[in-house]
Amino acid sequence: MKTRIVVTREPNEVVVEEHDLRPGDNEVLVKTYLASICGTDKNYSEGKMPREVQVERVDGNNEAHHAYPLKMGHEAAGTVVEVGKNVTDFKVGDKVMSFGWYNTMADYFVAPVVHNGYGVVKVPEGMSMEAASLGEPTACAIYAGMQSGVELGDVVVVVGVGFAGQVIAQVVKKMGAAKVICVDVVDGKLNLARKMGADIVLNPNRDDVVARVLEETNNQGADVVIEVAGNDTAIQLCSDILKHGGIMGLYSWVLEPAQLYINRWHNDGFDIRTLALMHRIKIDRPWWIEKTMQNVANGMVQIDPLISHVFDLADAAKAFDVACNDPDACKVMLKP
Ligand SMILES: [Zn+2]
Repeated sequence: MKTRIVVTREPNEVVVEEHDLRPGDNEVLVKTYLASICGTDKNYSEGKMPREVQVERVDGNNEAHHAYPLKMGHEAAGTVVEVGKNVTDFKVGDKVMSFGWYNTMADYFVAPVVHNGYGVVKVPEGMSMEAASLGEPTACAIYAGMQSGVELGDVVVVVGVGFAGQVIAQVVKKMGAAKVICVDVVDGKLNLARKMGADIVLNPNRDDVVARVLEETNNQGADVVIEVAGNDTAIQLCSDILKHGGIMGLYSWVLEPAQLYINRWHNDGFDIRTLALMHRIKIDRPWWIEKTMQNVANGMVQIDPLISHVFDLADAAKAFDVACNDPDACKVMLKP
């Protein structure tokens, strides 16, 4: 099958190439509905790739994704158009979403059927193909909210409301948080968070976030803070607004060195936890994927309004430019 695919030839050079694809014996060939640009894709397209990153080799056929030129994309949904000869639980016409790095920014992509949570997973009944195309980041963010330790009546602060922060804010509200406070330096993202149900939105460029959180919590600090911004300023803010014995959830993949004053982590007995589904619990991952996706299919979490831009696949370079540089971009999608 001939397909166009998006490739980062070298850092900051995103191009569309034509390649031939055919599924291996344990793989399916999928016609892409929409593919999404993830924070990881942005980092890789700009050359920020941690050295230790290696692809998980499912059957030996996958290409390593730690070198340029780099075929892009891991978030997408589509329709199965061909199955390998050993594949029994998927058939032509099945709607699937991708959980793994399979060069999904393409007209067609090849992926194994699910293996420890990597591969393709069937789209649950009732979910839009738009939401399904964001299955992987959605599962990660819902997981983070569900594992954040939020309890009924809590005040929760989400620092950073890009796509993941928007999803996490919805989840903790549904889990019983009395007050969800969203923090971001981009007003467009704060407006979206408010529309999606946040109780209070704060912009550190304008608001004294520490003072406001103390005001809202009877000077105790937030019960739970979740860091979703990916920089040391945000992590520091989380440390400064958390109550004694509170929970700090770390969601972001931070690639820059961080300088922090963490006296309170020890002195106030913080419960610090990382909240990364795809990098943490390999055995439990398929179960979590199903559980989190069901919450989208049944309408508990809204995903479609978080798509801010859709570009034609041919305009991938422009799409990456917007995703990397436009502060109002939430989820930027590519349409083959
Ligand atoms: Zn992703």
